Amino acid sequence: MNPHLVFWVPAGLRLSLILGGGAVVWHYFGLLAGLAAALLGVCALLVIQLHYLYQLSDWLDDPRSAKLPDGWGAWTGIFARLYKLRREDERNQAELAEWLARFRQAMTLLPDGVAIMDDVLFLEWCNPAAEQHLGLQLERDKGMRVTNLIRSPDFIDYIILGRYEQPLTLSLRDRKLIVQIIPFENRRQILVTHDATESERIEMMRRDFIANASHELRTPLTVINGFLEIASAQPDLALQTRMAHLQLMTEQGRRMQNLVEDMLTLTRLESVEYPLRPERVAMRNLLEQILQETQALSGGRHTVTLEVDGPDIKGSTDELRSAFGNLASNAVRYTPEGGAIRILWRLRDNQPEFAVEDNGIGIRPEHIARLTERFYRVDKSRSRETQGTGLGLAIVKHVLLRHGATLAICSVPEKGSTFAARFPASVLLDA
Ligand code: ADP
Repeated sequence: MNPHLVFWVPAGLRLSLILGGGAVVWHYFGLLAGLAAALLGVCALLVIQLHYLYQLSDWLDDPRSAKLPDGWGAWTGIFARLYKLRREDERNQAELAEWLARFRQAMTLLPDGVAIMDDVLFLEWCNPAAEQHLGLQLERDKGMRVTNLIRSPDFIDYIILGRYEQPLTLSLRDRKLIVQIIPFENRRQILVTHDATESERIEMMRRDFIANASHELRTPLTVINGFLEIASAQPDLALQTRMAHLQLMTEQGRRMQNLVEDMLTLTRLESVEYPLRPERVAMRNLLEQILQETQALSGGRHTVTLEVDGPDIKGSTDELRSAFGNLASNAVRYTPEGGAIRILWRLRDNQPEFAVEDNGIGIRPEHIARLTERFYRVDKSRSRETQGTGLGLAIVKHVLLRHGATLAICSVPEKGSTFAARFPASVLLDA
């Protein structure tokens, strides 16, 4: 129905009723009484309107707490409509709050930092990643100028130059950050930060690896090429010299082959395309093979012993052969003639452990943490003399990682070293 009619018809009816009542009183009791009755009726109507007006004003002071009255006459419709508006408003606010909570949670989970600033760079909001990257604390720093909070000359230059289409690489608090400012709305800007420390580290490792590998390959290649040049320049070289050159070339060729094989092994161990396929590893068999290989490498220069006191486990026989073989051959290569090498397989606190003990040259403490880095050697020439590639312990580390095991290194210079691979109880066959 037409809303004008809904309002005016009952109001008109009520007025007519008062005027009609006044006319009836006038008819029976005279004009004065009629006028008084009509006035009384109008006053009563006015009082009722004022009462509801007061209630409306009271409700408007605090629309959330006070309950709206049912009203009377036109007020019933007004209050009903106000009540509906309030319910809609509450629903909208609840939806908005839920959306905001979801947005905040998403922002909290974001690995990248996001900070919202106004047009003059006063901090309005930031997520936990931004707090961590930039050393901010939202509670404490809200409303402060970002250039006062991030005190890096590079960052300040970036703001001054205002070339925001280009990201800025920033070294801040031992991190490598990629930072960019994105203006949005008219008077706000978003500061986005991405932590590139890890990717930078991996990139550096990749560059180092290529540089080291090229260097390692170049040395034997130079030696071989040198002898080849001598051989072609001097075809009538004495047989004995030629044999000595061939011997050296063979050694360098073997060195390159070892290196390429170790590099391929490492690549395979790191590749997700070659997941570990656990099988039953017959430990006694495996360790006896390792013992024989170690004795062969030692050529009787050391006393090599084996003690097997542990069970078979689940793992990759080939990978474990490579890791244990590397540890045992290191013991031979870094133990002077006459030394003793013990190879052990035992259970310690229900955890299987493989250990190689030697009484060789030992390692100074400052080198120990870096030994499993690729191409890291304490003494380069000793490693090369003994056909080392510098990749042995990196291979050991990766094999152990794939088995959930850890490498513990104990060493005293001039006294000897123990390399122990500790496996989790989960590799036991009945685990
Ligand atoms: P390499 O091929 O040079 O032996 P590894 O990765 O196997 O490479 O070992 C890295 C370095 O750790 C070696 O160059 C050597 O300096 C040190 N090292 C490893 N095992 C021993 C050991 N048993 N005794 C002393 N030093 C060792």
